[in-house]
Parts: sequence; structure tokens; C-alpha cells
Amino acid sequence: MAEDVVTMDKIVSLCKRRGLIFPASEIYGGIANTYDYGHYGVLLKRNVIDAWWQAMIGDRDDIVALDSAIIQHPRTWEASGHLAGFTDPLVDCKACGLRFRADHLQELSCGRKPSKHPGETPECDLTESREFNLMFETTIGPVKEAGSTVYLRPETAQGIFLDFKTVLGFARRKPPFGIAQVGKSFRNEITPGNFIFRTLEFEQMEMEFFVPPDEAPQWHEHWLKERVDWYTRLGIRADHLRLRAHDAEELSHYSSATSDVEYLYPIGWSELEGIANRGDFDLTQHAKYSGEKLEYFDTASGERYVPYVIEPAAGVGRTVLAVLCDAYDEEEVGGGTRTVLRMHPRLAPIKVAVLPVVSKDGLPERAREVFDLLRGQMQAEYDEGGSIGKRYRRQDEIGTPFGVTVDHQTLEDGTVTVRDRDTLQQERVAIPDLPAVLGGRLASPWESPKLARSDEAAA
Ligand code: ATP
Repeated sequence: MAEDVVTMDKIVSLCKRRGLIFPASEIYGGIANTYDYGHYGVLLKRNVIDAWWQAMIGDRDDIVALDSAIIQHPRTWEASGHLAGFTDPLVDCKACGLRFRADHLQELSCGRKPSKHPGETPECDLTESREFNLMFETTIGPVKEAGSTVYLRPETAQGIFLDFKTVLGFARRKPPFGIAQVGKSFRNEITPGNFIFRTLEFEQMEMEFFVPPDEAPQWHEHWLKERVDWYTRLGIRADHLRLRAHDAEELSHYSSATSDVEYLYPIGWSELEGIANRGDFDLTQHAKYSGEKLEYFDTASGERYVPYVIEPAAGVGRTVLAVLCDAYDEEEVGGGTRTVLRMHPRLAPIKVAVLPVVSKDGLPERAREVFDLLRGQMQAEYDEGGSIGKRYRRQDEIGTPFGVTVDHQTLEDGTVTVRDRDTLQQERVAIPDLPAVLGGRLASPWESPKLARSDEAAA
């Protein structure tokens, strides 16, 4: 299965080959830790985000949505502690001129001798480590003057805290309730690499769940379970997921307890999502800095308190990467190797490919009609260029669960072949039945997809 064959290099090259995700600014030689998403990448990413919204606001009624600004008042970051404390320790090497994360030296390569870690060769000359703030700074207005400095948000969470009072006013909720948001965050990360695992700009899916203080531990437990379940519902194998609790030194300045959901990426177990008990840190800080009361007043009991916050904070890119790594498979078929992304059909960028077996004899016209029949109902793609084998291969590599082939028999009896991505089994279906047959299979709930393989199906 996938763990035997997948490597980060294979994922990177498949993503580039099929136009899912590729380096940004490539015509200028690229820009560090920055990637663009092409057509299939955009669709896959959108499906991940939709699944998250579904879990947050579709499947429950105690969470509301928000879309707050990327650039907020600069006092935000003083209050949140990011200006003073959101730093990485960095060292410079005077010999090779490179800069490294002091806490990642064992994962990095020396600038002169890549087989060694920085500091390991006699020539290496590392400085003392210095703290370096990860926030990108910019200016409002045409000139840089006092008070004009602002920051690109390094997390979406703070916008939620700033709007707590406003949302409480119109959402007619009382704790426990949550505010969820998806959006871009920015961090001036200097540790290179690992594809989209660590990028300068990335999308986060964050939810702040406000609870009465004495209920915080049980809600933390609740969200740990919910979030791991969500990944398994996306089809990610349970034995590739684990929860890891932070020890005291690792905890962020705001957190009293954090556990990471980790995925077994080809680079080893790494963070997919952090689930923190932020206590009342953020609301208290913003109340102090803004002078606004950020608390909940229960008119029934007369009780007034600052809610505690449980925060599941996930990365879209890291989820996309986990989905790709988990789905990647290679198998021997007909004397050749077939690469296939066995991803959950609900996540697949394209649900069905409509392919005339040859591009003559009226087959393209008939296939176009089939495509028109399906495309209003599901993300469909029509493709008539090249051999049928190559076209299947392309669809397998982007994880398309169904291939519909129009052949000469179609002209005689109005049936087409439906090919299953995982089992490679083919069945004939009458064209008018296609929307119901495919729609029924795609509409299945978020259960784990079948991971059947063509050889098992044949057995
Ligand atoms: P790491 O320790 O890997 O730097 P973090 O603990 O700083 O991550 P959080 O602040 O908890 O990350 O952010 C929540 C989530 O946002 C992470 O679990 C991850 O999925 C995502 N994320 C954070 N930083 C990045 C980044 N530079 N690139 C891509 N995703 C990121």
C-alpha cells in the first residue's frame, strides 16, 4: 500500500506533472517556500475546505462563520503577544552565509557540505542564536511614518477574538458556541522545503469555541476526538494519524494544554493541526488593550464571565498534502506501473471523465452529449486527445473515481462503460441512468472510501 511507495519527491513530481501544485514565480526562478495551485489543485483544496465547513456549520448548529480582515489594527499583535513572542531562534553561519533555525539544525544541511548538519564541520562558524519575529510587516499609506506599520496576520484566530462581542450580539448564542473562519495567514518562515508543508503564506481553518471555564477540559477532549474523526472521514487511514500532547516547554504562551493531530508524512510524523486550550488569555488581553469588556453575561443566572477558548487550528495545505500522500499508490497492471490517487470520491477534483474511445465515427459528438448530461450534477471533464490508455492514466493520477467511455457499442445500444478507478472493473450502464448511478455513489456520506485494488477485485 501507499506507505511502501510514496515519497515526497513522487508527490511533488505528480503535482507538477498534472498541474495540481507547482512552484510560484517559476519564470523568475521561483520564490522560497511559495507555491501556486493549478486547476485540479484548486478543486481539491476547495473540496477540503468545503468538508471542513460541513463539519463546522453543516453538521452542527453551535458554530457560526466569520471572514475577518488580514490586516488588523497593529495593537492586535501587541495584545496577542505576537509582536513580542512570535519568534523563531535563528543562527547565521559566517562561513557559508546561510541562516538556519537554531531548533531545526538536525534536519538541515550545511551550506558547504550538504551531508553534514550546520555546525558539524570544522569550517562552520555559527553565531549565537537570535530571536526573529515571523510576522510580515508592511505600511498603510504611501510613506513609512510613525503609526503606519501594520502586519499580515500570522493566524486567523485573532480576528475572531476582536469580533467576539459583535458576533455575540447578532448570533444570539451563548457559550458553548464557536466562531469558525478560513483564510490566508502569513509567516516569514526561513526553514526551507518539504513542499507545501511549510510555506510563507497558507490557508488556515480555525475555530474558536467559547465555553464556560469549568467546561474547558471536557470540550478540549471533545474537539480532539472530533478532529481526528474528521480526518478519518476524509478517508485518511487511522494508523497514519495520531494525537500528541505538547509538553510544558513546547506550549505556546497562550495555551494551558495543546495536542497536535499528526500525520505520518513521508518526512515522518508531523503536525497537521493543533488543538489548544487557550483559556481566557486572548479575550482578557484584548479587553485590557482595547478597554472593551469581552465577556459573557448570562441574563438568566446573572453570571458574568470571560469564556475559555478551545481552538482546533488546521492548515489547508497540510491537509491537502496528507490527502495526497495517503491516496498515492502504485500497482502493476498489464505489465506496467499504474500510479493512482485513491482519494475519497468527495475530495477528488474531478468526479467523472467522459472519454470517447476514439475521436472519430461520431463518438466525440455522442460523448459530448454524455458530458453535458453529467456536468450540471458533478465536476466532470471531457477529454478526447491521445490514446485511451494515456487518458485513463491521467485521470488515475488526479484521482478521478469514474471514467465513462463512449465506444461503438454506444451508437448501437445507448450504453457506455463506467470504469472504477480503484478496482478497474468496468460495467455497462444506459446513458439515461448515468446521473443516478454516479450521483448515488458520489453522494454516499463521508465514510472511508473503499480502498479495493484492481488485483483484489480480480481475485
Ligand atoms: P509548526 O510547529 O509546524 O511551525 P505551528 O505549531 O506553528 O506549526 P500553529 O500555529 O498551531 O502551527 O498553526 C495551526 C496550523 O496551521 C498548523 O497545524 C498547520 O497545519 C498550519 N500552519 C502553520 N504554519 C504553517 C506554514 N508555515 N505553512 C503551512 N501551514 C502552516
